[in-house]
Amino acid sequence: MDNLVENLGTENVVIIGSGPAGYTAAIYAARANLQPLLITGFTSGGIPGGQLMTTTFVENFPGFPDGVLGPDLMDLMKSQAVRWGTKLIESDVTSIKCIDKPFEITTLEEKIKSNSVIIATGASANRLGIINEELFWSKGISACAICDGATPQFREADLAVIGGGDSACEEAVYLTKYGSKVHLIVRSNKLRASAAMIDRVNANPKIQIHWNTSVTEAIGSEWLENIKTIDLDSNQEVIKVKGLFYAIGHTPNTGFLNNQLEIDSRGYIKCESGRPETSIEGIFAAGDVADAEWRQGVTAAGSGCMAALAAERWLSEKNLAKIITREQPEPKKSESSTNNVDEDTNEETFDFNSEWQKGSYALRKLYHESAKPILVIFSSPSCGPCHVLKPQLKRVISELNGQVQGIEIDIDKDQEIAKQAGINGTPTVQLFKDKLLKRQWKGVKQRSEFKEAIKSLIK
Ligand SMILES: Cc1cc2nc3c(=O)[nH]c(=O)nc-3n(C[C@H](O)[C@H](O)[C@H](O)COP(=O)(O)OP(=O)(O)OC[C@H]3O[C@@H](n4cnc5c(N)ncnc54)[C@H](O)[C@@H]3O)c2cc1C
Repeated sequence: MDNLVENLGTENVVIIGSGPAGYTAAIYAARANLQPLLITGFTSGGIPGGQLMTTTFVENFPGFPDGVLGPDLMDLMKSQAVRWGTKLIESDVTSIKCIDKPFEITTLEEKIKSNSVIIATGASANRLGIINEELFWSKGISACAICDGATPQFREADLAVIGGGDSACEEAVYLTKYGSKVHLIVRSNKLRASAAMIDRVNANPKIQIHWNTSVTEAIGSEWLENIKTIDLDSNQEVIKVKGLFYAIGHTPNTGFLNNQLEIDSRGYIKCESGRPETSIEGIFAAGDVADAEWRQGVTAAGSGCMAALAAERWLSEKNLAKIITREQPEPKKSESSTNNVDEDTNEETFDFNSEWQKGSYALRKLYHESAKPILVIFSSPSCGPCHVLKPQLKRVISELNGQVQGIEIDIDKDQEIAKQAGINGTPTVQLFKDKLLKRQWKGVKQRSEFKEAIKSLIK
């Protein structure tokens, strides 16, 4: 980045959330020379990049005639925001003090003062609370078919998806790539998805729809084996499935606001219709967190643009804007991470001392021959959280100066290895030393957790 990063003391604008709304707001605010600070979120209320990190192809975002992978689209938005001078903090916001100005935003690590705030914290997947849900969570039950569908346990198995909207239909169709049959469990007597999506479900012979049906219980021993359902006439059925995927809507991420802003009965931030201003002057909202109706990538991006323009206007009306200066009017081209194509390491390219390699060949060699700890990330190409975690792990490894080696295993390509390692969801990270599994993590975790575990193995 060839902008002058200025220490503003009190920020012009803090943007909370890194989905399409947050990154679009950041692009506009950065181009207005406000040097926005964007807090990406980490584990609370989704992951960095937001909901599109959990999907495969986005076919309706303008500018991509052949579709674009959700994680790639979010990587591009991030690069664009950073290129124009957005500062990023990878953390969760735990609270905001809205009464005093400047506003005070508290993250997991620090307190930040800002003259204006844009809230773009989106929405989180709902859970059902059925019997044994906790017991089988990540052992057959998942809220993200796109992230977990490729795991070995689901291949050629019967699976179920709960829900009747676009997400449920998309996930059911997606899962037919892996499962032998997909039961779509719909609480009412119709699907609420788009006509095109309903057509795809109806045209797929592997999908069976169960109308007016709810799931009450998950049954199994080590892994999910059956689900119990009940229909409107109280008929109960036990369906044999190895996977149960929730696609039952979202709850807006507004808990950290502690009711200081006006919120509607479902938790969405109240704004004037079609506008980003909230009930508190200087605080703006964008995207799904304030939109119970449209909830699309492009509408979130559009409202992010409105929120940034409104914040810019408000800051200059109040004489609060501190405009930064740039060395170059045109920043350097971005280094989009989507341009990096990682090839699997093979016999010729294997390097015994390399910090990061990919594929089963490198894993076998280092597992048997390396005296260092080995950190293995099991990922799949469409897994958004894996996009988030990989750079974090690479950073941990580089900070440890060659005392640990990292390997990425694509479970789609290396199914046998994934099976042997007992992988049932991505991302899963395993830490080995002297051929022994020392630690395992599922999902996105703070860098410090990995670092401490590795350090404890280095003498
Ligand atoms: C499976 C799936 C498929 C979809 N497919 C499409 C599609 O094809 N086309 C389309 O247009 N839309 C699609 N959508 C909808 C689209 O993803 C959302 O409308 C859009 O992502 C909303 O953007 P957002 O920026 O408002 O919020 P989100 O994308 O939800 O992002 C919210 C951000 O806020 C962060 N956050 C939350 N709480 C905190 C906190 N306390 N502190 C800091 N940060 C926080 C999160 O980490 C996240 O980065 C899909 C959604 C899903 C779930």
